[in-house]
Amino acid sequence: MIIAIDGPAASGKGTLAKKLAVHFGLRHLDTGLIYRAVAAALLDAGRPANDREGAIAAARTLDPSRFDETSLKRYEVGEAASVVSAIPEVRAALFDFQQEFAAAPPGAVLDGRDIGTVICPDAEVKIFVTATPEERARRRTLELKGRGERPDEQAVLKDILARDERDRSRAAAPLVQAADAHLLDTTHLDIDAAFRAAVAIVEAARAS
Ligand code: C5P
Repeated sequence: MIIAIDGPAASGKGTLAKKLAVHFGLRHLDTGLIYRAVAAALLDAGRPANDREGAIAAARTLDPSRFDETSLKRYEVGEAASVVSAIPEVRAALFDFQQEFAAAPPGAVLDGRDIGTVICPDAEVKIFVTATPEERARRRTLELKGRGERPDEQAVLKDILARDERDRSRAAAPLVQAADAHLLDTTHLDIDAAFRAAVAIVEAARAS
């Protein structure tokens, strides 16, 4: 079984994807980490996020077995990731890895922006996770504080809106709900309630 989870930044899709993978005995891939790793390779080399050739080269030589998740979750890396991820050659270089991950037994949960539309268009279950920008900014601020950063919530909200706009309006694999995806709005749901709702969606899809 392949479960495709898409949604905007800080919608809760990563937490849900992880929990669904454990619940259904599937492997999990946070595809945002791949784009973050490309961005981090540029930033760590002192290069700007809009260094197109550098981003393409980094994507082509990426080694996903060597990811340092804590470092990749840094705020500035997420921002830079949304710049490099708009480059079609970067997306193309990362395509096979994601598809192969999804296809390997016993199946997988992948979360990102284009899983249900581009990477796994035939996934058995697709969920588009969303929440209001204000709620997502609140969550992202708490998460960053938990990592020892000192974010300003209004600035986080502004960046989330800008990132949404970049991810939705790009030509290559824009963030969009697949026609056959189930919409899950987590604005008023805590993690457990959102998880129960997602499990219900998966079980209903499997039964049908
Ligand atoms: O989900 P996360 O915040 O880690 O993703 C960082 C950025 O990577 C996103 O803002 C988006 O631009 C990009 N991304 C993407 N396609 C994916 C996953 C992430 O374009 N499948």
